[in-house]
Amino acid sequence: RNIAERTDKKAYEEAQKRLKIAEDDQRNMLPELRKRSRWEYLKKREAEKLEDLEAEIIDEEYLFATDELTEREKRDLEYKRTLRDLAKDYKKAGAKEQEERKNRYYMPEEKRRKVRTRDVETPMELGGEQGRWEEERLKTASLSFGAKKEREQGMRQEQEKYQLILEEDEMIDFVSTAITMKGTTEAPSSRSSEIQAFMKQSMQEVRRSLPIFPYREDLLAAIHEHQILVIEGETGSGKTTQIPQYLLEDGYTKGGMKIGCTQPRRVAAMSVAARVAEEMSVKLGNEVGYSIRFEDCTSERTVLKYMTDGMLLREFLTEPDLASYSVIIIDEAHERTLHTDILFGLIKDIARFRSDLKVLVASATLDTERFSCFFDDAPVFRIPGRRFPVDIYYTKNKIYCYKEQVLIMHPSSCCTFVLQEEIEACCELLQERCRRLGSKIAELLVLPIYANLPSDMQAKIFNPTPPGARKVVVATNIAETSLTIDGIIYVIDPGFCKQKSYNARTGMESLIVTPCSRASANQRAGRAGRVAAGKCFRLYTAWAFKHEMEETTVPEIQRTNLGNVVLLLKSLGINDLIHFDFMDPPPHETLVLALEQLYALGALNHLGELTKLGRRMAELPVDPMLSKMILASEQYKCSEEVLTIAAMLSVNNSIFYRPKDKVVHADNARMNFVVPGGDHLVLLNVYTQWVESGYSTQWCYENFIQFRSMRRARDVRDQLEGLMDRIEVEVVSSQGDNIPIRKAVTAGYFYHTARLSKGGYKTVKHQQTVYVHPNSSLFEEQPRWLIYHELVFTTKEFMRQVIEIESGWLLEVAPHYYKSKE
Ligand code: ADP
Ligand code: MG
Repeated sequence: RNIAERTDKKAYEEAQKRLKIAEDDQRNMLPELRKRSRWEYLKKREAEKLEDLEAEIIDEEYLFATDELTEREKRDLEYKRTLRDLAKDYKKAGAKEQEERKNRYYMPEEKRRKVRTRDVETPMELGGEQGRWEEERLKTASLSFGAKKEREQGMRQEQEKYQLILEEDEMIDFVSTAITMKGTTEAPSSRSSEIQAFMKQSMQEVRRSLPIFPYREDLLAAIHEHQILVIEGETGSGKTTQIPQYLLEDGYTKGGMKIGCTQPRRVAAMSVAARVAEEMSVKLGNEVGYSIRFEDCTSERTVLKYMTDGMLLREFLTEPDLASYSVIIIDEAHERTLHTDILFGLIKDIARFRSDLKVLVASATLDTERFSCFFDDAPVFRIPGRRFPVDIYYTKNKIYCYKEQVLIMHPSSCCTFVLQEEIEACCELLQERCRRLGSKIAELLVLPIYANLPSDMQAKIFNPTPPGARKVVVATNIAETSLTIDGIIYVIDPGFCKQKSYNARTGMESLIVTPCSRASANQRAGRAGRVAAGKCFRLYTAWAFKHEMEETTVPEIQRTNLGNVVLLLKSLGINDLIHFDFMDPPPHETLVLALEQLYALGALNHLGELTKLGRRMAELPVDPMLSKMILASEQYKCSEEVLTIAAMLSVNNSIFYRPKDKVVHADNARMNFVVPGGDHLVLLNVYTQWVESGYSTQWCYENFIQFRSMRRARDVRDQLEGLMDRIEVEVVSSQGDNIPIRKAVTAGYFYHTARLSKGGYKTVKHQQTVYVHPNSSLFEEQPRWLIYHELVFTTKEFMRQVIEIESGWLLEVAPHYYKSKE
C-alpha cells in the first residue's frame, strides 16, 4: 500500500512539474495563446517523446510478462502507457486538422458545429493522473443519470422518471465532491413548498425579506459618514434594486439631484430599472429610468437612473464633474469591464473636488479588498448573505453536448450557462425534446436570456411559474451576478465563456471561447442556492476545475483594444494616459497601439492631440473605426448607405435565422440576398428590402430574417442619423454605386486588410493567417483583397463580415498610414 501511495504521489508530482513547465512556456507566449488549454502544450510535448516512450514500453512489457517488475515499476509502466495513448491521440488530432485544412472550402453547417464543439471543449484529459487525482479528492458518492445501476438515496424516484427519457448511450456519470458550497442558512432539501412560499410573497414583502433590509439604517449611516463606500453582498441580496431606493427615501434626490447606478450589461440596466419602477409604482422612464447605448428611457423627472457603465462614461463628455448627480453607484464592480475600470479612475478623481458626491462601489463577494485599497482604503460594508448550501457535482469523464438532456431530467427549475450563439439552438432542442416526451414530463418553460433580448421576453423570466410547471433558464453569463432569477434549484454549468482577447503586437482582437474562471463557476453555482438548497452540475471534471481554469477572470482592460477609451479620455482633456489612475494598468504596448491607430485614423495629430476629425469621431457612441467609416461617408457621398451598414453591423450577427427543420429554405433565402462585393452590401440589401416591405414582420418571417434584430438595427440607425446633424454630415445616397460605399468602409477599417496569397489569406500588416468565415457571401469567391469587420476565433481565426476592396484604395484613404510604413 505504501508503495502504491508513493507512486501515486510521484505521478501527481510529476504532473505538477510538467504543468509548471507548460505554464512557464505559456508565460512567454502571447496573451491570446495563453488562453488556450495547457493540455495542448502537454500533449505536444508528449508527441515529441512518443518514439522513446514506445521503445521503453516494449522493453518493460517484456519484463512485465516475465514477472520481473516491482509494484512500483508496474505503476510506472501504466503511467507510460497513458502518456503514449495521449501522444497518439494528439497525433491523430493533428492529422485530422490537416484534413480539415484541405477541406476548408466546404464546411456545411452540421460539420462546422461539430468541429467547433470539439475545439472549444476542453481537450482530452491526461488519463492516469487525472484519475488518481480525482480518486484522491473525490468521494465515491456518484450520481449517474440514466444508468441502470442503483441510485443514491433520494434520487431514486427521480431516476425512474429519467429512465423514460434517456437512452442508454446518453447517460452521464456525475461524481459528487465532498465539497459543498456552504450556505449561511440551514436547509437540507429543496422543498417546493418553500419555493412556492417564496414566490407568493407580495412585492413589499419581498423587499422587506431581502438580506439588505435589516441593514438599511446602518448602511445609510455609513454612506452619510463616508464619501466613498465599498458594498459587498451576495447576488440577490438587494444591492442593485434597494440601495438607490433607500437613498431616495433618505433625501439624496432633493433639489432635482440624481442617483446614478451603472451596470456592465444592457439587459441588467433595463430589467433592474423596470423592477424598481414597479416596486415604486411609477412608470418606467419617469422617476426611474435607464439609459443604454442607442436607447434613452429617461425624462426630466428621472431621479433614479440606471445605465450602462459606458453611458456614464459618455456623460463625462457633457458634464465632466457629474454635477447633476448626488450619488454614483458603480455596481457589479467585480466584473471589471473596461468601462467600469475607467470610471474608477475618473470618479476617484472628481470625488476629490466634489466633496458632496457620494460614491458607492457595489460588488458580489469578490475582490472587495482591492476596491477598498484603490479608493484610498474606503471602508467595506458587508451585507451578510443568505445562501442555502449547494452540492457540487462534476462529470466523471469528459462530456460534450449533453446540456439539453441534463436540463430535461431535472425535476425543478434550473438555469444553464451557455454562449449567446448557442442559446437559440439549445432552446430549440429542449422544446423539441419536450414535445416528443409529451405528457411524460412536467410542463417545461424554456426561457432564454441574453444581452440583446427584448424586454417583453425578459419579463417572462421573472414571472412566477404556473403550478406544476418548471422553468429552464438558458442564459449567458449575464445571470451569473447581474440578474437575480428566483426559484432556481439546479444549475448546469458547461464551464465556458466567451472572452475578448487582444494581441497588442498585431492589434488583432478576437473573441475566444475559453473555460471560465473558477470565480465565475462559483458564482454560477451560487445561483442554485437562492431560495432553497440546490445542486450544481458542472459539465467538466473536478480535475479540470482545479487545473484548467484560472482563479479569476483577467480584467477586460488588459485584453482589449483601447482605441475607444483613449479617444474618449483625450476628448475629456486627459492627455497623459500613461499616468492615468488605473486600478490595473493596461499593457503599455496596448496603449501605444491605441494611440498609433487613432493617429492612423486621423483622430490624433503627430503630437497626440485630438484633431477636429477626432473630436467629431468621439461624438459617435461607436468604435473609432466605425466612427471613421461613418465620417468618411461624407466625403464619398454615401452616408445613407453607410449608416445602414453601421447599424446592421452593430446588431451582432443575429440577422439571419436558420431553424433546424428548414435549413435548406433558410439557406436559399439567404442566398437570395447575396450581391457582389461582400457581406456589408448583403446586409445593406437586406435592410433596404425590409424598408421596401414597410418594415414588415411577415416579410422577415418569409425570408428567415430575425425581426427583432432588424427592429434593433432600425433603432440604431435612427439614433446614428440623429447624430449626423451634430457632427455636420449630410445624409445622402450614392444612388446604387457601391464603390464609394466600399471606400468608406476601407477608410474606417484599413487596419483590417487581408490579402490572398499562396497559403490563403494573410493580414497585411502582420502576415497572420486568417480565414473567410463559411457564412460569408465571399466564402467561395476568394477576392485578392479583403477587409473584415471582425475576427472570431473558433477553430481558426475567422474573418466575419468581409468586403472586397482594391489595393489602390488603401493609399487613398489612409495615406499617412500606408505611405509611412511601405
Ligand atoms: P443584488 O443586486 O444584490 O444582486 P438585486 O437588487 O438585483 O440584488 O435583487 C434583489 C431581489 O429583487 C431578487 O432576489 C429578486 O427577488 C428581486 N428582483 C430583482 N429584479 C427582479 C425582477 N426583474 N423581477 C422580479 N424580481 C426581481
Ligand atoms: Mg445587482
